[in-house]
Amino acid sequence: MYQGSKVQRGPLPVATRGESPISIIGAGIAGAWQALLFAQAGHAVTLHERSDEAMMLSSSHWAGGMLAPWCESEVSEPIISRLGLRALDLWRRELPDTPFNGSLVVAHSRERNDFERFARLTSGHRRLDARALAELEPVLEGRFRDGLFFAGEGHVEPRRVLPKLHERIIAAGGTIKFNSEAGPDDIEGVVIDCRGLCARDTQPELRGVKGEMILIETDEVELARPVRLIHPRWPLYVIPRQDSLFMLGATSIEAEDTGVSVRSALELLSAAYAVHPAFAEARIVEFGSGLRPAFPDNLPRISIDKEKIAVNGLYRHGFLIAPALAELTLAFVERGQIDNEVMRCG
Ligand SMILES: Cc1cc2nc3c(=O)[nH]c(=O)nc-3n(C[C@H](O)[C@H](O)[C@H](O)COP(=O)(O)OP(=O)(O)OC[C@H]3O[C@@H](n4cnc5c(N)ncnc54)[C@H](O)[C@@H]3O)c2cc1C
Repeated sequence: MYQGSKVQRGPLPVATRGESPISIIGAGIAGAWQALLFAQAGHAVTLHERSDEAMMLSSSHWAGGMLAPWCESEVSEPIISRLGLRALDLWRRELPDTPFNGSLVVAHSRERNDFERFARLTSGHRRLDARALAELEPVLEGRFRDGLFFAGEGHVEPRRVLPKLHERIIAAGGTIKFNSEAGPDDIEGVVIDCRGLCARDTQPELRGVKGEMILIETDEVELARPVRLIHPRWPLYVIPRQDSLFMLGATSIEAEDTGVSVRSALELLSAAYAVHPAFAEARIVEFGSGLRPAFPDNLPRISIDKEKIAVNGLYRHGFLIAPALAELTLAFVERGQIDNEVMRCG
């Protein structure tokens, strides 16, 4: 369990180990981690997903996949750091090949004040001068005066890691039903609703926060880790993917359409160009956007109503915190433990 979390005994456990089948709806990052930990704990798990294996209907498909609790603490509540730090251990345990080679934060001179502010508001970083920066990422030589290195952070590639998690669920004895649309009231027994934004029928406060991204391809630039560029409006970043691909992300817009605006595209592409001008020659592979499921306080929530449990509101931290939320749900179902910061009962 968490060090320092506010945990107390709750009501009677709704199920004891292996006795009751568990149905999970939604195979995005929240549902996948729930299914994995429950299956590994010996429960009979069925995971329902309305889309096919490509998971194009999930918010998770569009994500950056950064596991960055220290960087995110600039703008998020302490609970995100608590869950995120615990989740890093779970990522390491379940997928030991997850790259944990840190992330870099850089800024151009006009964003100097915002850079210093970012340094003040975050921890877990080391300041690198231009030479140390170039040793870490040779392609950045001569580009920035200094940078912040968050050595403990990691990143995953969502479109590769979701199938890996799905494979592990099956290996642990779970069943996944793709093209299977279900609602929490359609299924008997313990149901864990991880439908993201589609859960608005039972959680009307949910809203979608649009995040736009661009995928580009080039052999001219090599990066080993995500690079964040301080930007007056959004934390823009460039994340290296396999096969010479880079993801540029992400805007954060209070809108629920899934288009990509010219303005956002210009800003994302400019960020890449600012990190390295060789990105100007890159090929644009994809424009896209996803809707982050968020509650009004932008905090995650595990809502418990007898055997119906809903895990939602992962907002911009789904990859970072989903493993820790799954661990909390399992502790509730097996032992009746309540985490006061995240759970709402009744
Ligand atoms: C551009 C962008 C960048 C991001 N970058 C990061 C990042 O770097 N790090 C990070 O931690 N987070 C990031 N996020 C946030 C993260 O993607 C979300 O928090 C996360 O995807 C939410 O996961 P979820 O499983 O709750 O929802 P979803 O991924 O949307 O999954 C819900 C699933 O439920 C399925 N479903 C819905 N209704 C039904 C039904 N009735 N029956 C069956 N299935 C159903 C859907 O098809 C979907 O697959 C980013 C998001 C965006 C958009």
